[in-house]
Amino acid sequence: MPLSDRSAQISALYQEMILDHYRRPRNKGELEGADASVAMKNPLCGDEIYLHVAFDGDAVRDLKFTGRGCSISQASASMMTQLIKGKSAAEIEPLRDRFRDMVMGKADASEDASLGSLRSLSGVAKFPARVRCALLAWNALETALAERSG
Ligand code: ZN
Repeated sequence: MPLSDRSAQISALYQEMILDHYRRPRNKGELEGADASVAMKNPLCGDEIYLHVAFDGDAVRDLKFTGRGCSISQASASMMTQLIKGKSAAEIEPLRDRFRDMVMGKADASEDASLGSLRSLSGVAKFPARVRCALLAWNALETALAERSG
């Protein structure tokens, strides 16, 4: 099949994944016994993310989010919570860097299987105004981790 058809299929699949997470967000809600709750807003788009994190030593034992906003911001938060749950700060850091690389348009990052479903957000790189939407939950996570380590 021609490359352009394949790439159109992938982008349709990615669009479907984003809408699925937007309509049925995973890990959305309050988190009982959260150690950190971070509010992060993107006034350019009107997105709000409240990230609630429970730690176990150096690892994120559990995390949930509340808030509202565009499909990119909410899908990114939903997919991020799935990927990050149970991981240590040392494991999270390279994933965050890869995700940031991807939405900034580094082509090899969008091929990185370690990002899982988050790769569906690779198209954001073509829309600079949406990059902040995609990074909102990750910035909240970074703040929560920084608070944890003091
Ligand atoms: Zn947005």
